[in-house]
Amino acid sequence: MDLSLHLRWWEQILAVTVGLVFAVLMVFLLVVLPIVVAYSNYSRAHPRSHDDPRCKACGYDLTGNESGICPECGNPSPEPIIDLFES
Ligand SMILES: [Zn+2]
Repeated sequence: MDLSLHLRWWEQILAVTVGLVFAVLMVFLLVVLPIVVAYSNYSRAHPRSHDDPRCKACGYDLTGNESGICPECGNPSPEPIIDLFES
């Protein structure tokens, strides 16, 4: 009877441990994986958005534009392209 009780105690510890590992695995699958997939999709949909400045209104390429105003549609860019290293 003592052995049976001892075994049950260890079974409970084992069950809790397996449950915790399973919970961590489920959190990884349900939280980390969707974030990685979403970020992957976002990176594919918006490739090099910081290196490729474009007009928010018409999508005109504003590379080298220093006025901050789109020459295609006249829409002022929220982030004027100014070369800080040029003097
Ligand atoms: Zn534009």
